Parts: sequence; structure tokens; C-alpha cells
Amino acid sequence: MAATKDYYQVLGVPETATVDEIKRAFRRLAKQHHPDRNPGKPQAAERFKEINEAHDVLSDPPKRKQYDQLRKYGAFAGAGRYGGAGRGPGRGGGGGPADSGVEFDLSDLGSFGGLGDLFSSIFGKRGEGRMEEAEDEVEATVSIPFRVAALGGKVPVTLPMAEVCPTCGGDGAAPGATISVCPECNGRGTISFGQGGFAVNRPCPVCRGKGRVPSTRCGTCQGAGEVRVEKRLIITVPPGTEDGTRMRLKGQGAKGKGDVVVQFQVEPDRFFRREGLDVVCTVPINLAQALLGSKIRVRTLEGRHVLLKVPPGTPHGQRFRIAGQGIEKNGRRGDQYVEVRVEIPDRLTPEQQQVVRAFAEKAGLKY
Ligand SMILES: [Zn+2]
Ligand SMILES: [Zn+2]
Repeated sequence: MAATKDYYQVLGVPETATVDEIKRAFRRLAKQHHPDRNPGKPQAAERFKEINEAHDVLSDPPKRKQYDQLRKYGAFAGAGRYGGAGRGPGRGGGGGPADSGVEFDLSDLGSFGGLGDLFSSIFGKRGEGRMEEAEDEVEATVSIPFRVAALGGKVPVTLPMAEVCPTCGGDGAAPGATISVCPECNGRGTISFGQGGFAVNRPCPVCRGKGRVPSTRCGTCQGAGEVRVEKRLIITVPPGTEDGTRMRLKGQGAKGKGDVVVQFQVEPDRFFRREGLDVVCTVPINLAQALLGSKIRVRTLEGRHVLLKVPPGTPHGQRFRIAGQGIEKNGRRGDQYVEVRVEIPDRLTPEQQQVVRAFAEKAGLKY
């Protein structure tokens, strides 16, 4: 979403520019970007339109005054915090002109080119309740080793999150400062924008929604009431955790009241892979073991070793089951499957070739 342009920036004049200065800037820029002087340049036409819009508003004192008020409340701050997904103006329930003393007659601003954007940057925000909740909730992706995911365990995680400022205890006031009702919102904590059928609130930018302002701001948090910290958590991973599993840690989030939501990312293991509650591993055996049979040592998930009997004539890819050595979850336990990979020597000496030929003749194998 392209945010509505700052008209002062468009004309390259300061906020304090006089009407004459605005007109001069406009004439100079309009001449420079006039479509007749820039044939085949669509950007110039776009710029020319912007310049005209900016001039229309800023050269008209009542319009300029309203624009300045909107601008002061961050309506033109771009697609920042309150710049939602470009939703249109909601027809507000509740209605009635806002009684905050900050009223805008938006119908008079009809000549604003980007009125749609203007509306969405004011109205396209999320509901305040949800916004607060989302602010206190911390989301993180946590990478865990395969074995920890399979067997369960604890993993340490460090997450950046907001904590209540230790200096001011969250009220944003410097020690000894006096706290008074916010003059901007009269203590309500919200500023209303409204006209006719709808009124919309947003947090007061002066008191940041608190409704009160200190005489001197806390130096630690600059008045925000919160500080960013690196918080270390030990997360208990339940056994049988699958890749992509989400877990909510109540009350571990920002300011000690929000939740932490972690999503586990299971790292692949060099030896094991998972099939439901079963684990599968591949073990190489040589040609003699495959033909004559053998006993091989196989590592289990828990790190023990078991002896597995490979019978004579075992084909490549054969799976053997070791019962009860899989993943345990909800009282059920999977098995371990051992898949053998028969390794074929890639080069034989002339002597070895002779032996294999003799074998082939005895076994009636054609080659
Ligand atoms: Zn503080
Ligand atoms: Zn306020």
C-alpha cells in the first residue's frame, strides 16, 4: 500500500512555509514536471498530479489546517504500525461525531488525491484489544535436535521481548516526577477521528494510550514504560514432538503476562529418520555378510547398542525390526527399523575376479 504523500515533502517546503512560498514552490515544480515538457514519461505525469494535489491543499488555509492536524496524528506516517492491510473505511457502529475536541470534516478534503490511503492509514488498524494481545505475545521458531524431539528434553532459548521498565515500574515517569492527566486525550488514552456516521479511536500518541503523562520522562525507557530484554527460557520439549509442532507457554511472554508461542523445527539426524512413532536407520553390510549371514551392532535412539542377526541371503534394502525401540508418545511406543545397504566392491583384483567366476559357474549364474 502506498502511503499518502506528505504534501510538504512533495513541494519541498517546511511546515512553516507561507502561502507565497508554497505558491512559488508549486510554480517552479509544476513547470519542471509538466507532462507537455516530459512527453512519454509517466512518472512525470504522476509527480505533476501530486504537486497539484499538494498545492490544492496547502494553498487553501482551512484545508491546510485540517491537513496539518491529520498529519500531526501520524496519518501520513506511512504503512507503519497502524497501516493495516489496506482495508477501506469501516462503517463504524456507535457512530456520532467524536467528542474528543479533535474533529475533522473529512468531506471537505475531497480533493485529497490519496484519500483511500488516508482512510486506510487512519482506519485500517487492528482492534485495540487484539493489538495489545499481539504485542505481549512473542512468537519464535526453535530448532531442536532429532533426538530431543523424539525422546523429549529441555532446550534453552533466548528471546528478545519487552519487560516492564525496572526504573519506573511501567508508568514512564522519572523518579520524583509528577504525573498528570494527558492534555491531548483528557485522560482517555485514545484519540477519536470521526465525522457523520463513524468515529474511530486510536491510541493517543502523546501518552501512548496511558491517559497520563509524567512531568519528566523516565530516562531508562524514555517514557515507554517498557524495555527490550533478552530473556532466557528453558523449554521442555515433549517426547514425540514433530516438525512444525506449536507450543504455547502461558505467561512467559512480554511483561510477564503475554504468552510465548514456539514452533519447533526438528533438525534432521545423520542416522535416524522418522516414520510416525517408528524410527528408521540404514546400516551398511558387505557382500559376505549379505550372502553368508552375520551379526551386526546397531545403535538405538537412546544410544544403546543391540546385536542384530542378519540371516544368510539378505537382500539389499531388507528391513529388520527391533521392537520397542521407537518413539514413545501417549503410552504407545514405536519400533526401530534397520534397513541394510549391501555394499558392492567397486573394483576386484584379477584373483578376486577368478574366484567370483568360479562361484558363478558353480551357482549356474550367467554373466
Ligand atoms: Zn522507565
Ligand atoms: Zn493522551
